[in-house]
Amino acid sequence: MTFNDFNFNEQLSEGLDSMGYKNPTVIQQMAIPVILEGKDIIACAQTGTGKTASYLLPVLNLIGPTPNHQISTLILAPTRELAQQIDQQVEGLAYFTEISSVAIFGGGDGMAYENQKRGLQNKVDIVIATPGRLIAFLSSGALKLNQLKYLVLDEADRMLDMGFQEDIMRIISYLPAKRQTLLFSATMPPKIRQLAKSILHDPEQVNIAISQPAEGINQQIYKVYDEQKTKLIVHLLKNGPYTSTIIFASTKEKVKALYKELKSTQINAKAFHSDMKQNEREEILLEFKNKQLPVIIGTDALSRGIDVEGIDLVINYDAPPDPEDYIHRIGRTARAATTGTAITLINERDQRKLKNIEELIDKPIAESVLPPELGEAPVFKAHNPNDKKRRWTGNKKRPNKGSRPQGQSKAN
Ligand code: AMP
Repeated sequence: MTFNDFNFNEQLSEGLDSMGYKNPTVIQQMAIPVILEGKDIIACAQTGTGKTASYLLPVLNLIGPTPNHQISTLILAPTRELAQQIDQQVEGLAYFTEISSVAIFGGGDGMAYENQKRGLQNKVDIVIATPGRLIAFLSSGALKLNQLKYLVLDEADRMLDMGFQEDIMRIISYLPAKRQTLLFSATMPPKIRQLAKSILHDPEQVNIAISQPAEGINQQIYKVYDEQKTKLIVHLLKNGPYTSTIIFASTKEKVKALYKELKSTQINAKAFHSDMKQNEREEILLEFKNKQLPVIIGTDALSRGIDVEGIDLVINYDAPPDPEDYIHRIGRTARAATTGTAITLINERDQRKLKNIEELIDKPIAESVLPPELGEAPVFKAHNPNDKKRRWTGNKKRPNKGSRPQGQSKAN
């Protein structure tokens, strides 16, 4: 299947060419025809699969190249970063059309609100918004959506996890009942099905293998003591071939601590977390995207949404508590059919989480050997798939802080 099969208008095809998309991805092949037919859709697809373009392309084609600038499309997204990235894809794909879009999201100062408000007074066809900020515009009367034709909920599971359910229902009360609704979600828990039931009309369901990370990701684990984690990361960053790396940690305290430690080793890394001002976060993301910053450290908030090409290494400082977050984290590399490496550091407490991840991806993750200069690695009991309790039975001795090679006794 090629993009020609969809008969997109000429301007949109030009946009596709300029974005360098050659062939539709699996989710695009499945979702585009359904949306072009005017049907509601519930699609299960992770980021990294081309899901954004799988709804943008048909919607842009349905809007047509010369729209009347009455807001016809609303795209709801959980975070400002995702909203901005969707907006950038709209700008790229719709570049040769007269379609225009505005992204509105919370955070920032009064200026940001005023700028977004001004943006809405211009000719706009597509609004991309986070739910909280959108409500502010709707309830103040600054934004009217009574001409809306297309509603997209992107990363719906994340929106519900973030407590946006009520906001979403309130937003929907401002929209015409007759509209086409497209719901995209990385996971399909019962609460998403319930939401779909209440807001979609006779939807077509499209699923791609959600629990499988992209084929091009070389997944590895290292078994480590906590004291070895930073040393190993420094070793990988200093000795590996990697040019663009994301390091995930499960709390912002860990992000900040790791940032301090890496800074002291002259590694050019920056932390990204919710205590930072929005413009600081945007600046760091931009530097990372432009390859001026080789290493970024963040929490799972960074794993959704960040759409940066050419990330060749993802390091999990710890195993994420939710195995699906593992797939989101490592999905930051090997995007759209390229290759990349994902390395997860596993300590004693992370063993259960590792098992859950391996169950979700339905295969064991290869273990790499700790460089000898980092001391002895902990030894886990051999993994027996029938053994529910995968216990730590290894050497509980802390590793030698010096450079004692593996296997060499202290007496030597
Ligand atoms: P997404 O899953 O929407 O986050 O998209 C992942 C990445 O794939 C983004 O950088 C897109 O620009 C890119 N992409 C989307 N569709 C295609 C395609 N058909 N061919 C190549 N790259 C694509």
